[in-house]
Amino acid sequence: MAEVRLEGVSKSFGGKTAVDDLTLTVEDREFLTLVGPSGCGKSTTLRMICGLERATAGNIFFDGKPVSWLPANKRDVSMVFQSYALYPHKTVAQNIGFALKMMRVPKATIAEEVRRAARTLDIEDLLDRKPRELSGGQRQRVALGRAIVRDAGAYLLDEPLSNLDAQLRVLMRAEIKRLHVDVARTFIYVTHDQVEAMTMSDRIAVMRDGVIQQCATPEEIYERPANRFVASFMGSPPMNFLTGELADADGTRVFRSPALTQTLTPPAAPLDAVERAVVLGIRPEDLTLSTTPVQGYHPGKVFVSEPLGPDVLVTVNIEGELLKARVPTPFRLGHDSTVYVGLDPARLHLFTTTDGTALH
Ligand code: ATP
Repeated sequence: MAEVRLEGVSKSFGGKTAVDDLTLTVEDREFLTLVGPSGCGKSTTLRMICGLERATAGNIFFDGKPVSWLPANKRDVSMVFQSYALYPHKTVAQNIGFALKMMRVPKATIAEEVRRAARTLDIEDLLDRKPRELSGGQRQRVALGRAIVRDAGAYLLDEPLSNLDAQLRVLMRAEIKRLHVDVARTFIYVTHDQVEAMTMSDRIAVMRDGVIQQCATPEEIYERPANRFVASFMGSPPMNFLTGELADADGTRVFRSPALTQTLTPPAAPLDAVERAVVLGIRPEDLTLSTTPVQGYHPGKVFVSEPLGPDVLVTVNIEGELLKARVPTPFRLGHDSTVYVGLDPARLHLFTTTDGTALH
């Protein structure tokens, strides 16, 4: 068992708050990802969980037992860092087994455990090599092997893929996800990459300025972002935003901006008329393009189109507002051609213009 709970945890460095009153429970065997832009406090949070950093306030519990005052080596965790920090003169086997050697585990047991970890990571044939004889991806696997050879309740991973090239990152992403299933332990993963967060996690905690903005499943974060920050951070390319106001016209609720007037249908239309000024959000894949006029569509001009393979990303200029649409290939209209843009009424998001809170 390893349920990790943070209760009102804060961390300041010289008066500057890095993590602000953070409360979070990571369930036993869950894969939870802390994601957010650089400097939002995710690494500091992870370092407090593993004991490399002491919280300024609040408490951390493992399975209900307070661990805030326990040093890192007395906590039931194993950490993988961004820099693999392999010992260059030791073989892969010695690197993986090092922690066990330090714990004075018998040699035969170490050999067995190293082989088991290597088997899980498919690096059995590399055990006699030195780190310099390995590719980046293989080194990353050794670093993971070093962490999983220790049977810890929770594995903490701080941007473990950020030193790999894009192709290898995609490969290792799936491997770490599979590793989580195989070792059946709690994983807490830190990344600034929203795709990693979306693809790997059971739940995602989106952080900004030391504060969790939303903690939910990837689907919920994507479908029902709690605020404009989460909506724009999760999703690539990001959600389109238009600032305007809510109005009632002929008995229907509409969103009106200088670029367009869009009829709203529930659930995207809160009936609280107090919120007049709003931001409308719509994801690129929820826009439809037509070469001919369609009732309710908005005329615009093709600004640029970028083929992505199965889809084309088309930027459309509607009265000076640029909206990105992701539409299936082929899309054949050239620059500055007239195009008609449809917004799926069931897929609209509304946010306040003040703090960007979602209006559900
Ligand atoms: P990144 O993705 O860039 O690693 P992060 O979200 O992990 O960012 P943290 O490393 O947790 O962010 O840092 C949060 C804030 O705390 C930053 O403003 C950072 O400058 C500050 N900080 C972190 N460690 C220290 C330290 N040892 N001394 C002073 N300030 C620190």
